[in-house]
Amino acid sequence: MSQVFHRHCHTPLRTAVRGDGVYLYDQDGKAYLDASGGAAVSCLGHSHAGVRAALHKQIDQLAYAHSSFFTTEVAETLATRLTARAPGDLNHVYFLSGGSEAVEAALKLARQYFVERGEPQRSRFIARRQSYHGNTLGALAVGGNAWRRAPFAPLLTHAEHIAPCYAYRDCKPGESLFDYGQRVANELEQCLLTVGPETVIAFVAEPVVGATAGALTAVEGYFKRIREICDRYGVLLILDEVMCGMGRTGTLFAHEQEGIHTDIVTIAKGLGAGYQPIGAMLASDRIYDTIANGSGFFQHGHTYMAHATTMAGSLAVLDALEQEQILARVNPMGEALMTRLRERFGEHPHIGDIRGRGLFQALELVHDRDSKRPFDPRSKLDSRIKSAGMSRGLMCYPMAGTIDGHRGHHILLAPPFIIEESQLDELTDKLYDTVQQ
Ligand code: PMP
Repeated sequence: MSQVFHRHCHTPLRTAVRGDGVYLYDQDGKAYLDASGGAAVSCLGHSHAGVRAALHKQIDQLAYAHSSFFTTEVAETLATRLTARAPGDLNHVYFLSGGSEAVEAALKLARQYFVERGEPQRSRFIARRQSYHGNTLGALAVGGNAWRRAPFAPLLTHAEHIAPCYAYRDCKPGESLFDYGQRVANELEQCLLTVGPETVIAFVAEPVVGATAGALTAVEGYFKRIREICDRYGVLLILDEVMCGMGRTGTLFAHEQEGIHTDIVTIAKGLGAGYQPIGAMLASDRIYDTIANGSGFFQHGHTYMAHATTMAGSLAVLDALEQEQILARVNPMGEALMTRLRERFGEHPHIGDIRGRGLFQALELVHDRDSKRPFDPRSKLDSRIKSAGMSRGLMCYPMAGTIDGHRGHHILLAPPFIIEESQLDELTDKLYDTVQQ
């Protein structure tokens, strides 16, 4: 029996021993095509030479210098490079060790901003029912998945949850997508008016919803309306790009495609690309200046923040995305994947929707396409698909989401950006066999 406390206590795991390109290999030498990038992490594949070299070089020179004593050249350069690419005035980067830490820091920064402005009565967040923001207590509180929150409910901060923008399920017959987007965005205003806008810190949302709803993009105009409502009531906007950021949807920051600026954005997974644990929060001038000109001290921190080796690895990730043109592959390869998915699954009786952006795509599973009825959550369809995929040498990311009380299933695909057309064929073939099983 394993002494590692695995999350699923009774599910034996294979042992991963090696990674090469888009494949992982287990102890028997069996190859697995990484169609999910782990959990939308591995954007460069598993053996990127530049990142490996940068990590070796940094670890030989300086592995770690505590961030309260020193900054490092790699941290400064990485921050400069990220802020130069970020929309708006997100000019201040706080480095952390993962996605939940980044979200936690974002929530606390937003709260401290209002405390320093003399508005301590702002003490709650508004988020969306289909969302995942992490597993620490603050991040869990804003996450939309009620069953994840349930055991910890007495420990959680105040958060309200409104509907996400989910056109496939909620757009009414005859309603235009634009009108639907405005209607659902207006739920934010209704919620603010119900709870009192002066009590709200921020609205938190993933620009493209990842794990809980499967590459769910908002319709045009939705996020613009959300931004207007936030501005009207003086509420901050926090965008969580932990999963959809770092080029996954075709632009370095996913919200670039929504035509809005945000007050805070979180990134993580793809920034480390699987080579080092990292998260980051980027904050606007107005937020940073309020703290800097106020107490001058953000009351939040972690031991491994801005860890030198991690910084060097992530700088090399950014180099690879930009200088090796790996980011430029996302849209063409994303289109190639979408074409294949539509060919293979377009008429499939149990595939209700095929959606996504860039190399962030998903199939939504339904009983039948007309009623869109989801499968019973007790069917454990997600774990059955996962193991069916693994036995065929395919890593995909099936999940049971929460659809307004009912639960629906989808399969998330987020392969490394280096994937080739022939490997997309292999992915689609294996996925088809997996779904057919
Ligand atoms: N936010 C989003 C949107 C995520 O997808 C995740 C992880 N799935 C997190 C936050 C939490 O990140 P981590 O698991 O690195 O703590």
